[in-house]
Amino acid sequence: MTARSPVWHPFTQHGLGQPVIEIASTDGAHLIDRNGQRILDAISSWWVTTHGHRHPRIMDAIRTATEHHDQIVFAGFTHEPAERLARAVVDIAPRAPGAPKLDHVFYSDSGSTAVEVAIKMALGYWRNIGQPRSRILALEHAYHGDTVGTMSAGARGVFTASYEPLLFDVGRLPFPDPARPQLTLDSLDAECRHGRVAALLVEPLILGAGGMLTYSAHTLAEMAAICRRHGVLLIADEVMTGWGRTGTMWACDQAGIVPDILCTGKGLTGGSLPLAATLATAAIFDSHRSSDRAKMLFHSSSFTANPIACAAAVANIDVWRNEPVTERIAALSATQAVTATTFANNEKIEAVRRCGTILAIDIRVGASGYMASVAPDIMAFALDNDILLRPLGNTVYLMPPYCTTASDLAAAHDLISRIADHFGGRR
Ligand code: PMP
Repeated sequence: MTARSPVWHPFTQHGLGQPVIEIASTDGAHLIDRNGQRILDAISSWWVTTHGHRHPRIMDAIRTATEHHDQIVFAGFTHEPAERLARAVVDIAPRAPGAPKLDHVFYSDSGSTAVEVAIKMALGYWRNIGQPRSRILALEHAYHGDTVGTMSAGARGVFTASYEPLLFDVGRLPFPDPARPQLTLDSLDAECRHGRVAALLVEPLILGAGGMLTYSAHTLAEMAAICRRHGVLLIADEVMTGWGRTGTMWACDQAGIVPDILCTGKGLTGGSLPLAATLATAAIFDSHRSSDRAKMLFHSSSFTANPIACAAAVANIDVWRNEPVTERIAALSATQAVTATTFANNEKIEAVRRCGTILAIDIRVGASGYMASVAPDIMAFALDNDILLRPLGNTVYLMPPYCTTASDLAAAHDLISRIADHFGGRR
């Protein structure tokens, strides 16, 4: 691309003059640049692509949808793709015996908005039932999006420094470190006793942008139980974890819990088009349902429930129903697990974590953290080897599409060994 492009890219320091790669097409697990280089998309294009790029069933559904619809206003109007999708999503949402079902679906267009909506639903719930509460609890190292509300709930740092004066205060719980989860549980319990807490917002099982930090399903279940005991709402941000990434459809499934509110995005359309949804129980919905117009959920965006995106999402669920997606995920997870054990003995690797299809390693380097200078160097090294990685500081992770072949995955594992050799031990 020319240096004079007017495009301002996300999370990109244009002042460094690094090249911006033009992708001419995509194919399964690969991106193909304008010079014909085939690059393995080992991060599923920022965690969105689940089955693979341009899955035929999803592409066909998009083409067909354009025969009937483009955007239509969604306040007081509806359309078949949105109705079908809502029913299908409710059908596959987490369930547990005796737990209220997630049977209402509010559409939006990004993960950040899905989480913003969740926070607004929680506050609306408490206000509408006559017990206003506004305190949100969130985990240390959390990431929930880049809008002001979601940045407030997320970890603070270089990403948020400029906006700090606008961010609201949240109750910050220590990350549920597998070595001492009780610290988090005690802190949650103490916070909930204040009685002002509206909701706990969590990324279940694995914190993505915070460094692919994992914690146990048991701890997640314990957190849910504490919330339930205190009448605090639980919001599960499954924007990254949903649609099979952690080995099950939802991360919540592994803990056997049903949150009061669940956020989904990214893989909802198989990663093909922007669409997100916030699912809620009847209690949350009913608190907003009234003859009083002042109690409605005051959230809308122009592209709510875009029909073409909804049709893509319906096709995504058809792929789940008609193809061996679960088997692909199991095979991918098993290979990642085997490699994780071999990396555990590598002295240049500080830590190895795996959660379902996701494998993350911390390279032993002098400086860690997101801004660690090693990250862009590793990314360039990987691209030279036809693989797209975007390390989070010294944390290198693989989150491949489910169509990734065994040989492509082996190449990615081999690359990680070479990255550890090349960059590990650097001071
Ligand atoms: N929540 C989580 C857990 C995420 O990982 C992300 C995006 N990486 C978001 C929310 C925000 O989603 P989006 O980028 O679609 O706004």
